[in-house]
Amino acid sequence: MSESEAFRSGLDVVRAVEPRIADAIAQELDDQRESLKLIASENYASPAVLLAMGNWLSDKYAEGTIGRRFYAGCRNVDTVESIAAEHARALFGAEHAYVQPHSGIDANLVAFWAVLAQRVEVPALEQAGVRQVNDLTEADWATLRRELGDQRMLGMSLDAGGHLTHGFRPNISGKMFDQRSYGTDPETGLLDYAAVREAAREFRPLILVAGYSAYPRRVDFAIMREIADEVGATLMVDMAHFAGLVAGKVFTGNEDPVPHAHIVTSTTHKSLRGPRGGLVLCDSGLVDQVDRGCPMVLGGPLPHVMAAKAVALAEARVPEFRDYAQRVVDNARALADGLLRRGARLVTGGTDNHLVLIDVSGYGLTGRQAESALLDAGIVTNRNAIPRDPNGAWYTTGIRVGTPALTTRGVDATGMDEIAGLLDTVLRATTPTGKARYTLADGVAERVRARSAELLARHPLYPGLDLR
Ligand SMILES: *Cc1c(COP(=O)(O)O)cnc(C)c1O
Repeated sequence: MSESEAFRSGLDVVRAVEPRIADAIAQELDDQRESLKLIASENYASPAVLLAMGNWLSDKYAEGTIGRRFYAGCRNVDTVESIAAEHARALFGAEHAYVQPHSGIDANLVAFWAVLAQRVEVPALEQAGVRQVNDLTEADWATLRRELGDQRMLGMSLDAGGHLTHGFRPNISGKMFDQRSYGTDPETGLLDYAAVREAAREFRPLILVAGYSAYPRRVDFAIMREIADEVGATLMVDMAHFAGLVAGKVFTGNEDPVPHAHIVTSTTHKSLRGPRGGLVLCDSGLVDQVDRGCPMVLGGPLPHVMAAKAVALAEARVPEFRDYAQRVVDNARALADGLLRRGARLVTGGTDNHLVLIDVSGYGLTGRQAESALLDAGIVTNRNAIPRDPNGAWYTTGIRVGTPALTTRGVDATGMDEIAGLLDTVLRATTPTGKARYTLADGVAERVRARSAELLARHPLYPGLDLR
């Protein structure tokens, strides 16, 4: 049976119960096919990944870990989880992989609590001479709870490209930890390691977090580890955005976080091109604590998603994935060069990963106006703060664009240059009329839509997949 038939008959089964859902699923494929997707955190998973999710593995409760479950009858879940973990360990060269987290945020929660358990709870239990928290006296328990809530974290600031989960107040991480940020050099826009070291020496965090969502450059994780070691911090790297570049061996040596960090977290659906989900990699010292992720902070595992993770991780272990990862980076460079040639202003002056951050103040716009005008022309991006953003986190001054998704469709460097032209055309044709309001010159949206439709037609999404 072909992929088309598999999806079509699946949809027919859904349609028989709730046709509106079947229609929305089919419509989503059309929408994805027709939009020029430059969202740096999105991608297109393979049919094998998608199909691995739609089945009865979903019906199984499997709290606990492989071979140590709180429920009976988990042998197939054990198989699925073992294979996913085995692929993750091999792909990333990690000592241990935990593939249960439902998302990147969940993976970070697992990591935070693993470190808190290892460094705060376990020593407290030892000191009190008991085996587990239930054996502590009320007084010792109260003290431990206060200590758990009084730990420090140092992470990259939001406007330099860090993530909300790296200790910011609106997120639970900011409520759990006393947080300080490091940023980028005001001149170069590059990560300022000397400033990180200085902040670490002064603040002495329990956890030093590296990783980003909107920083267009590479990070030297060997230096970050050296800084962590100097102040006795645990180095946690959140590679949610760039896991595909690590898997594809574009980031090696000091740019590969796995050999340097104590613990690494990731999503599986961004550059890694798997199902929506997360994972944690760690060295042997943290295994016991990481494996307690469920039910510590995670709800029951999603066995069907772990199956899809296993498929995606297997896909990332074949040589073609390395070509893909290299093309993602080459394409980002081509996109940046095309924008610079047309006069755009870029944060850090370019990119050496999968994303580009356009400073749209060069076009006299806020990020909000630019994002909306681009969407009018069928180009999907997101607005993003830039370092020391004058417009704040809501309106912003940046547009973040990334190449993982379009590279999956087969768009090449020439296509990226064409896309740079489309972005520049729309941004130049946009006139601000208020912080969020703007007008787009007549005919531009239609012209750009037509040209991007031509480009996308040359690179069909899921070629051969036909739902009709
Ligand atoms: C996307 C992202 C996350 C969150 O991932 P979700 O799957 O949306 O929870 C966490 N950290 C970083 C750095 C990210 O880019």
